[in-house]
Amino acid sequence: VSVPLSGRQLSGRQLSGRELAASIRASAASLAAGLAAAGRPPRLAVVTATADEASAWYVRSLGRAAAQAGIACDVIDVTADVDGVRAALAALSGDASVHGILLQTPLPGGARLADLADSIDPAKDVDGANPVSLGRLLTGLPAFAPATAEAVLALLDHHGVALGGRRAVVVGRSAVVGKPVAALLLARDATVTVCHSRTRDLAAVTSSAEVLVAAAGRAGLIGPGFVAPGAVVVDVGTNAVADGGLVGDVDPAVAAVAGAVSPVPGGVGPVTTALLLRHVVAAAAAAAAASSP
Ligand code: NAP
Repeated sequence: VSVPLSGRQLSGRQLSGRELAASIRASAASLAAGLAAAGRPPRLAVVTATADEASAWYVRSLGRAAAQAGIACDVIDVTADVDGVRAALAALSGDASVHGILLQTPLPGGARLADLADSIDPAKDVDGANPVSLGRLLTGLPAFAPATAEAVLALLDHHGVALGGRRAVVVGRSAVVGKPVAALLLARDATVTVCHSRTRDLAAVTSSAEVLVAAAGRAGLIGPGFVAPGAVVVDVGTNAVADGGLVGDVDPAVAAVAGAVSPVPGGVGPVTTALLLRHVVAAAAAAAAASSP
């Protein structure tokens, strides 16, 4: 596999997301300040419906990042059944002071995100959870993409990875990561294969990739034998380990084979948070434009 990087020859390089995330957050903060000065401060509402330590940790860190960018972040703990969650989402969708709505999983009664996210106004659906948003993404219409999926593409672009005509393999087919990543890669003219838990001989498929995106949520699933020499590997996985840290889906030994690998933490994660904030500011700006005389 030739290294599909434009202008730069790389080996064992880390595709860090920190610098990119900082620049996205800085531009979001500057737009947020402009909106606040015009009397339209951007506001994000995060709806949580069940107690979950990983989700609570994420919401706290998102709240800190939002505050730094000058975005108000309300956490609405509904601890209700699915009807209560729907009612909360409908109320926030109708509240003109709220510009972005994020529904945290897990949900009550084993509900999936897609079962309830259709109650989020697509104009406020800053993490692309409403099935309408995914449909619009697939058909090339304007929509908020799930921030994690968009972060994968933003990271590849930031590091100069060319996508047109490249063989891309995505491991994972969820509605929040795998499917939208595949749609975004396809929209950029990559030739895309999507793998999942029923894929036969996963290593044979992933070894054909020039660009490999791992989003299975299985620590170390992608070993060196799964990666072609020189391939670019984006690790979306975040798996908690015993010492309290996070590891990705990609075995560290892959760095010796790949042309470049994104680290966990410090790769897709910070870019995801930054893009979510950018979406909130964009939604607030669109609402301001729509309501100004
Ligand atoms: P998910 O809903 O559990 O989906 C996982 C996908 O991986 C499924 O499609 C599953 O296949 C597939 N899979 C599982 N084991 C596999 C195996 N051994 N071989 C091949 N495919 C396998 O998870 P998700 O929400 O998409 O998240 C994926 C990972 O990304 C998780 O680690 C999550 O924590 C992480 N994540 C990170 C961020 C971030 O900002 N960095 C954001 C969101 C998620 P089936 O469909 O056949 O079950």
